[in-house]
Amino acid sequence: MLRVQKASQRTLVRRLRPATWHAARRGLATASEPYDTVIIGPGGYVAAIKAAQKGLKTACIEKRGALGGTCLNVGCIPSKAMLHNSHLYHQTKTDLQRRGIEVSDVSLNISQMLKAKEDAVTSLTKGIEVLFKQNKVDYIKGTASFLSPTRLSVQLNEGGEAEVEAKNIIIATGSDVTPFPGGAIEIDEEQIVSSTGALSLPQVPEKMVVIGGGVIGLELGSVWSRLGAQVTVVEFLGAIGGAGLDEEMAKQFQRSLAKQGLKFLLNTKVLSAEKKDGKVYIKTESAKGGKEDTLEADVVLVAVGRRPYTEGLNLDKIGVELDTKGRVVIDDQFNTTIQGIKCIGDVTFGPMLAHKAEEEGIAAVEYIKSGHGHVNYLAIPSVVYTHPEVAWVGKTEQELKAAGVQYNIGKFPFAANSRAKTVLDTEGLVKLISEKETDRVLGVHIIGPNAGEMIAEGVLAVEYGASAEDIARTCHAHPTLSEAFKEAAMAAYDKAIHF
Ligand SMILES: Cc1cc2nc3c(=O)[nH]c(=O)nc-3n(C[C@H](O)[C@H](O)[C@H](O)COP(=O)(O)OP(=O)(O)OC[C@H]3O[C@@H](n4cnc5c(N)ncnc54)[C@H](O)[C@@H]3O)c2cc1C
Repeated sequence: MLRVQKASQRTLVRRLRPATWHAARRGLATASEPYDTVIIGPGGYVAAIKAAQKGLKTACIEKRGALGGTCLNVGCIPSKAMLHNSHLYHQTKTDLQRRGIEVSDVSLNISQMLKAKEDAVTSLTKGIEVLFKQNKVDYIKGTASFLSPTRLSVQLNEGGEAEVEAKNIIIATGSDVTPFPGGAIEIDEEQIVSSTGALSLPQVPEKMVVIGGGVIGLELGSVWSRLGAQVTVVEFLGAIGGAGLDEEMAKQFQRSLAKQGLKFLLNTKVLSAEKKDGKVYIKTESAKGGKEDTLEADVVLVAVGRRPYTEGLNLDKIGVELDTKGRVVIDDQFNTTIQGIKCIGDVTFGPMLAHKAEEEGIAAVEYIKSGHGHVNYLAIPSVVYTHPEVAWVGKTEQELKAAGVQYNIGKFPFAANSRAKTVLDTEGLVKLISEKETDRVLGVHIIGPNAGEMIAEGVLAVEYGASAEDIARTCHAHPTLSEAFKEAAMAAYDKAIHF
């Protein structure tokens, strides 16, 4: 139900008319009939479409003014656009000659590159609006806040306020940039930027310091390094890539990026950053204490993580519990502590990944509709879209060691793969880990060309409980990069042929 609540009723009725009129015409929401499902935040747009497909009267409330959440607007999509185009530029400058392609006068048009990124974002966000229309999801542009477990007040972007009533509400409000601890570094999105600012720098900085060697810092550091910046990544831990990346792969990954010109200061803590005379001076010290240093940069990217976002939802008023990290507490069916309210995505537990949020959105809707849903958290892939790409699923070698699990390892380098040799892209390897006793695949870790696509095969293996032998006996087309995956499986249970 969408009902005008405050201010001048006439003005608001006019403003709300398209939504209410369409909704009423379709019978989606009338004064006497609440919505079956309302999703707050369009990160849950997949959930909204699935709910509508299942015959639930559905609305999605989003305050950003564009659908698709962080992922489409300031996350996955714009970063991948910049990664792809900066890679083409870098490759054109540094790699084409050995392939027999002579080019001259290669230059960067950064505003066109930013425009290409924006065009990709706009076409995809608009595409979701079309999908919403096709699936009869009501799109309410505004900021939602709980009045009760079944009623939301929405501050409409166009002005005014509306009330929405629903039998089920799914919180999908996502995450936000974690500020630098203690407020020692203030983000201005010009010289000291978050990932959002780093996606839109109007010119290539001469020197860039990236605070945090996790996935976002490495992807965006790569972009600006390829475009010509001298990039230094400062990481508190002793390895890059963040939690979940196999240690052996992290070392190889760092070597690859270092070859491309990125510098790494590991085991190093950033203390502060001060702007002076057009530069930023970043104070660091050894993570163990002592040994202070100062780095100079034109732009600093603060990439120290993301935190769940629940601001303004009024969750404490209705009794939805958060844990000590600010995540919405849920059970294994995405129920919050208040009946009828579910929660998915970055704002609750688990890896902050778009595909994890999507899986949860669909499962949450299935629980609402039928009481059954499915997400296998052991089979959620992670990808770093640098070049070479890094991708993994399942357990790392160190996790298995710590758990006392006996395992086999099969490795196959792309240097021995015919397709990788053909396309002159031979950096990296596939590492497959299987349980010693059963041969079941427990983890797959890939560094190499198209690792992000190839990992899908590893995800299927983990999801279906395949053995290494199952994969090794599955025919793979030749010549393909995926033969490296098959050969790694062969190496895990027997022996590879080409290495
Ligand atoms: C630079 C960057 C690159 C990334 N790259 C990848 C990648 O390659 N692959 C990947 O899987 N993940 C990537 N991610 C992570 C991915 O973007 C998130 O995991 C994903 O967007 C989470 O989806 P979500 O539905 O939980 O929330 P979000 O996508 O954050 O969406 C939540 C939405 O809710 C809205 N909202 C919040 N509060 C309210 C309210 N009260 N009322 C109405 N609307 C509200 C917000 O405006 C926001 O649009 C990246 C993130 C960043 C920052």
